[in-house]
Amino acid sequence: MQGRRRKEPDLGEPPLLDVPEPDGRRSGARRVPVMLPYPFAGPFDYRIPPGLHPQPGDVVLVPLNRREEVGVVWDHSAEDGVPDRKLKPVSGLIDAPPMRPALRRFIDWVASYTLSPPGEVMAMALRVVPQGVSRPPIGWVRADPLPDTRLTEARRRVLDALAAKQPRTTGELAHAAGVGSGVIRGMADAGLLVPSALPLVPPFAHPNPDHPGELLASDQAAAAAALRQAVAAQSFSVTLLDGVTGSGKTETYLEAVAECLRQGRQALVLLPEIALSSQWLERFQRRFGVPPAVWHSDLTSRVRRVTWRAVAEGTAPVVVGARSALFLPFPDLGVVVIDEEHETAFKQEEGVVYHARDMAVVRARLCSAPAILVSATPSLETLANVEAGRYRRLTLPTRHGGAAMPSVAAIDMRETPPERGHFLAPPLIAAVAETLARGEQAMLFLNRRGYAPLTLCRHCGHRMQCPNCTAWLVEHRARRVLQCHHCGHTVPIPEECPACGACNSLAPVGPGVERITEESIASFPDARRLVMASDTMTGPDAAAAAAHAIEARKVDLIIGTQIVAKGWHFPHLTLVGVVDADLGLAGGDLRAAERTVQLLHQVAGRAGRAEAPGRVLLQTFSPEHPVMQALVEGDLGAFMAREAEQRRPGHWPPYGRLAALIVSADTAAEADALARHLGQAAPWGEGLDVLGPAPAPLSILRGRHRRRLLLKTRRDVAVQPILREWLSKVPVPRGARIDVDIDPVSFL
Ligand code: ADP
Ligand code: ZN
Repeated sequence: MQGRRRKEPDLGEPPLLDVPEPDGRRSGARRVPVMLPYPFAGPFDYRIPPGLHPQPGDVVLVPLNRREEVGVVWDHSAEDGVPDRKLKPVSGLIDAPPMRPALRRFIDWVASYTLSPPGEVMAMALRVVPQGVSRPPIGWVRADPLPDTRLTEARRRVLDALAAKQPRTTGELAHAAGVGSGVIRGMADAGLLVPSALPLVPPFAHPNPDHPGELLASDQAAAAAALRQAVAAQSFSVTLLDGVTGSGKTETYLEAVAECLRQGRQALVLLPEIALSSQWLERFQRRFGVPPAVWHSDLTSRVRRVTWRAVAEGTAPVVVGARSALFLPFPDLGVVVIDEEHETAFKQEEGVVYHARDMAVVRARLCSAPAILVSATPSLETLANVEAGRYRRLTLPTRHGGAAMPSVAAIDMRETPPERGHFLAPPLIAAVAETLARGEQAMLFLNRRGYAPLTLCRHCGHRMQCPNCTAWLVEHRARRVLQCHHCGHTVPIPEECPACGACNSLAPVGPGVERITEESIASFPDARRLVMASDTMTGPDAAAAAAHAIEARKVDLIIGTQIVAKGWHFPHLTLVGVVDADLGLAGGDLRAAERTVQLLHQVAGRAGRAEAPGRVLLQTFSPEHPVMQALVEGDLGAFMAREAEQRRPGHWPPYGRLAALIVSADTAAEADALARHLGQAAPWGEGLDVLGPAPAPLSILRGRHRRRLLLKTRRDVAVQPILREWLSKVPVPRGARIDVDIDPVSFL
């Protein structure tokens, strides 16, 4: 996490230059504020040289500490009182589409809401602007005819990677063929490759809104009509599309996208995990005949640049992306869809800490466009907005095609415990066996990667802990390592206990998906297995391959972490077993119950989505817990209503506001001192409370000592001015920092 309140980075002297004014120049009008992509408090003024006429939004090159930096002409001056003659001049304009007012307002808004330096927010929008003058990029194609030389294996792979006849850059080719760039250069020298200009804009084909799509069921059609109307109104509104799992929400909101295309405007769809969305992309293609533009952090820099430009020029009509897509330069955004709006993955926890769902609504408002929030398990925040009349709600009450909702039952682990040293209870084993015997697919869900969450010495009781964090090391048996899931610290599994030296005394405690997989091999030796976890399924290709294998019934048993909860549609999957349904309740933060219900309901929603009915079994030690009851009864509405009633009286979100201050320092004493100062300077008054300081649950993270304070206010209180004043009273010593998290989701 980075600080909102850190010192400005040490970039040397401010951008001042002591040069005399050229003769005859009036001072005053010839200066312009430029926002730079760094955590400064605001834009800096620069002098406008003769012949240049920068306008707000223009991308410019300016000097900063003997370097040239890309910045954007902003609207209001920094008013730093620096006389004109001391200002450095703007170096030049960059050939890039100007940043439009709606995006500049959005950046200002996000910065002010999250208490982030505006330049740091702008950096997210500017990351891909070509630096300096843009040259047409050069790629390579195969020489035709190929010169008659002997081909090494590496060179053959490079030629194979060019089979599609599309030119590719050196970097792309080297990556695709698994060779170094030297091989590419050598092949160019040998005349095997010839340079070819790359198209500046890839063909983002125009999705056809009238491409024949699926025939909508009547409740889908009614909801789609309402969404189309919202898009046609070309004004801001927020609609919650709330439909049970498998009700066909995607097909429904794609009609809003279609309407947006008919209007000739651009559509943005945010998905929480774009790398896992192969099925979504296939459905989009079925509906519109062509794929959308995709935006996420793993794109090659060329694809990023080209996509960015296509968005700016309006030639990418639909973008589906991760939260960073909010900062793309849409000239004419006509609708923003946030699918799986309840997902905590929308909260960015590093750098600028923001919630993409909430900021998407702001982005829509600033573009006078409708926002559509989609979920089978809407967040309490969104439900409260519906209740208050701020958001409209559309409901799809039944599964598409007449499929029934799965039946959910709890397995009481106290009554039918697993065998000693095992984790699957007899009723779950029996159910999996029956399902597999019928030729249907089963899924085991456990939200924990690796083999075991804790490694303990049987001899002396020593527990293997991360040296940098307040966390146990997780065993990853396949890779033979112990790993910290917070900082990534990894060590080989030791042969002897580091504390007492006993040999072969270290024992795994508790299960992760690897261990469940091992147990399932013993219980169902003939089942064809697939493990879906973030460390086994890396990237979109692996996810797509997994989905295809499951769809083609090449897999009998799926074992996975929370990845399996994400919107998948597997028609032959009829049984879902949750190995540890109590897992998410342990942490006990504000939203633990809500989050657990959402996650388990989503996992359960993978079962029985086609003809064969689905069944869900929850292994739990407390079947009487309201979360388990809600899942068994399938009544999330009642559960959320009760949850709301518990939060309302104490003004907890969404009926109040929260902001977290996270203090961190190299030593516990420094962290305590700064946290104490913050506590002493804490604001007080009607409708606000400060909780803490207290050690963070992760009291040491990456070697830094952490303390937390929480500001809680009534809903009608704006927390930002209070925080600004509070923070202004507390100097942050060198090496320490205070991170601000508005509307925190994580309390670690
Ligand atoms: P949800 O997102 O609500 O969980 P999906 O959008 O995944 O549901 O829809 C479930 C399945 O039903 C998908 O395979 C989808 O393609 C299919 N489906 C939805 N609506 C229709 C329709 N009108 N005609 C045919 N298939 C549909
Ligand atoms: Zn660690």
